[in-house]
Amino acid sequence: MTKMQGIINIDKELCIGCKRCAAICPVDAIEGKKGSPQMINRERCIMCGQCVQVCTAYASVLDENLALRGKKLQERNMLPSVKEPLFAAYYAGHAPTVKEVLANHNLLTMVQCAPAVRVAIAEEFDMPLGSLTPGKMAAILRELGFNRVYDTYFSTELTIMEESSELLERIIGGGLLPMFTSFCPAWVKFIEQDYPELISHLSSCKSPQQMAGTLYKTYGAEIDGVDAAKVYSVSVVPCTGKKFECERPEMRDSGYRDVDVVITTRELAQLIKDAGIDLKDLPEKEFDKPLRIYSGDGTIFSAAEDVMEVSLRTGYELLAKQEISDDNHKFVGGDEGVRKSEIKIGDRTIKVAVVAGLKNVVSILAAIKAGKADFHFVEVMACPGGCINGGGQPKIIMPDDEVIVYSNRTFTAEVQEQSIEYRNLHNRQEIQEIYEELLDEDVIQQLLHTKYNPRGWCEI
Ligand code: SF4
Ligand code: SF4
Repeated sequence: MTKMQGIINIDKELCIGCKRCAAICPVDAIEGKKGSPQMINRERCIMCGQCVQVCTAYASVLDENLALRGKKLQERNMLPSVKEPLFAAYYAGHAPTVKEVLANHNLLTMVQCAPAVRVAIAEEFDMPLGSLTPGKMAAILRELGFNRVYDTYFSTELTIMEESSELLERIIGGGLLPMFTSFCPAWVKFIEQDYPELISHLSSCKSPQQMAGTLYKTYGAEIDGVDAAKVYSVSVVPCTGKKFECERPEMRDSGYRDVDVVITTRELAQLIKDAGIDLKDLPEKEFDKPLRIYSGDGTIFSAAEDVMEVSLRTGYELLAKQEISDDNHKFVGGDEGVRKSEIKIGDRTIKVAVVAGLKNVVSILAAIKAGKADFHFVEVMACPGGCINGGGQPKIIMPDDEVIVYSNRTFTAEVQEQSIEYRNLHNRQEIQEIYEELLDEDVIQQLLHTKYNPRGWCEI
């Protein structure tokens, strides 16, 4: 990566100044006159990558000039074998770093793969949607050479346990409400820079990616009998913001970086193509058991409402000491990307909102500041429709295909989700064992929680 490059960039030589990117940017971070190359204001940018998704100016001319194409690939830190068009808006790549690390046999390589990756990666291989099942994904990652292959679902459950407990403490103990989810790094940065007075509303929980990363580096390394310094932790996600999150200075409280490098769904596809792996005939494999205790797989945290759904169930069961019935709460509304729900627990009515797309949260924040909102819990995902449409998902080349691709991804996530039986988290033996054997209160606070701070200029 060249030194001046940020996580999200616009290539001046390719930008035609159409301003499609500026129209989608939720924080007005793209500056420049129409018809002239645009620039990203890095202080404002929240790294959601939506500008990368909508950019249509690409380097066809460079296809004939291989030397120039090679230079651009190098600048973007992409594998030399990549054949796709190079668009003006792009994110800094990390696939060559991962390829290098996989060839270094002095390291123990661990990979965690987010559920939303398998909802969309088939698009990169002209395969039927949903054909890349958990078993296939585990097989691909093993074939690439990772020593440990994990599903991020494990730490999603830990995040929900921690988040539900924090919400309960705030409700029962008279703490600050509403509590905001904190797993979306673009949303967190938005609050830090634009609404510093609301930072304390953010849950102190780290995201599933960071929780998994820190546990693998500490307990995982210990279980494997390996020096943590020799563990290299990779995360595969649908999200460009997670590249920023893993570099945050707060995300190394164990003494090691929780996650060393993040690659997107698109970059995983590039690595697979680079390795010449034939997906069709790959036999299904299992994910490894994190910390040798936990097993399970799933697709929650892919689409909007998932996190809220499971957190509410867990919170309800912790508070009411009984299982929530399926029709105890219903989401309503949704036209503007905001859905609301109420749950009755004894004599309390818990009010929640789920927001997908950052522009949709502004009116809720204004109501909170004016003391006119009575929510207890607000979940926000910066990307329209949630993580399944994150900035690191396969690029939709034809703008007219957007609606159909988005609805296909949602449908695939829902189908996968239906295969999961909801398990009541706090009573599960595996989760209880992890808490009893590994996680005392000090460890929980040190490794699984963090603190967010007002920020001005973003140096990452
Ligand atoms: S990454 Fe998101 S916030 Fe940054 S310039 Fe692009 S659209 Fe705007
Ligand atoms: S909504 Fe999901 S994919 Fe989009 S920035 Fe947030 S965490 Fe990343």
